[in-house]
Amino acid sequence: MNKGTLFIVPTPIGNLEDITLRAIRILQESDVIVCEDTRQTLKLLSHLKISKQLISFYTQNQLKRIPQIISALENGKNISLVSDCGTPAISDPGYYLVKEALSHGINVIPLPGPCALVTGLVGSGLPTDSFIFLGFLRKKTGKMKKELIQAAQTEKTIIFYESPHRIIKTIEVCKEVFGENTNIVLARELTKKFEEFIRGSIGEVINEMKTREIKGEFVIIISQNSKNIDSTEEEEFV
Ligand code: SAM
Repeated sequence: MNKGTLFIVPTPIGNLEDITLRAIRILQESDVIVCEDTRQTLKLLSHLKISKQLISFYTQNQLKRIPQIISALENGKNISLVSDCGTPAISDPGYYLVKEALSHGINVIPLPGPCALVTGLVGSGLPTDSFIFLGFLRKKTGKMKKELIQAAQTEKTIIFYESPHRIIKTIEVCKEVFGENTNIVLARELTKKFEEFIRGSIGEVINEMKTREIKGEFVIIISQNSKNIDSTEEEEFV
């Protein structure tokens, strides 16, 4: 019997229009959809009018689930992996499933699509040519600081995710590491009704955030550099 394929299918990070035609077709054609929170995925599937068997897969059940999913793939089932939002395997346990599938000789096909870190970066106005993504930072201040110091040494644009209730504390740590004049952008509620980019120096953004009730989802982007167009590379317009 032919083995099935594991498809990695990105889903919207807020705006339900942000799903590709290919992603919809692959979800329709899959035998099973592996997701994080089944309630979250059911909302998307009912919007797309797709009805499929769902299997939950998250950090707390991954050890039990991975062999079950691999066995279904070995028995010829085509499986789509989705996450609660955005691209699976970015800041969720999807990586472990992909690794295991590959080690069992299973074909893995990733689809391109929404991803909060890329959406936040390209709208930030900070350099996009070279960046480092840290996922969620360590929670303990000392470990967080160490992670940020290591990233700072690369001089690349730094991107990470943070939950709203930790934002101010985390930016205070950023101020200690990078200094209050370094550029920071908080990309909030991307693709949603209250999408905004809070841009400024770390000092300015801390002051701004202290005046607010902090709600929503955030991507944080920091750059120690700003880039200008190299005029020697410019071609004539006509
Ligand atoms: N797999 C997702 C992706 O491709 O971006 C990321 C999943 S991670 C578990 C969830 C985090 O992504 C949130 O805590 C937040 O930091 C960020 N995020 C997700 N959606 C977002 C949005 N619409 N606006 C800003 N940040 C978002």
